[in-house]
Amino acid sequence: MICIPRFTQAEIEELVVLLKGFEIPYELKGVSSGVSRFRGTKDYLIGVSNEYFPKALEALKFYYGFVDSSYERFTGTCPACQAEVVDVEECSSCGLAFVTDPYELMADHPFCIFLKKLEAQTEASSKEFY
Ligand SMILES: [Zn+2]
Repeated sequence: MICIPRFTQAEIEELVVLLKGFEIPYELKGVSSGVSRFRGTKDYLIGVSNEYFPKALEALKFYYGFVDSSYERFTGTCPACQAEVVDVEECSSCGLAFVTDPYELMADHPFCIFLKKLEAQTEASSKEFY
């Protein structure tokens, strides 16, 4: 069993639907969300078997937009300066960024931190292998 951290009540309600849609068996583990929050809310870990872990990871990455297709370039009128731009990552006139990196947007999210650690581990182990 691998536990994937760490989701709020609101997130988990949607993720449960997602996991069911992907036919991934899961367990939820409630954990205290700590003293920094005043409301008596819980966070949740999603537990999946080793077998289903890669599939669950893909589903969650899909849900949070951690996919290559989110790097779509922008063509049209810049909402900030009204310049006409064609196929750019940022406005050539005012520098407004059109491409958002989901890892950057969610850098503080426990799932994002988990993913980064996982990728670092994978890299390290593949280096050992060669
Ligand atoms: Zn602009």
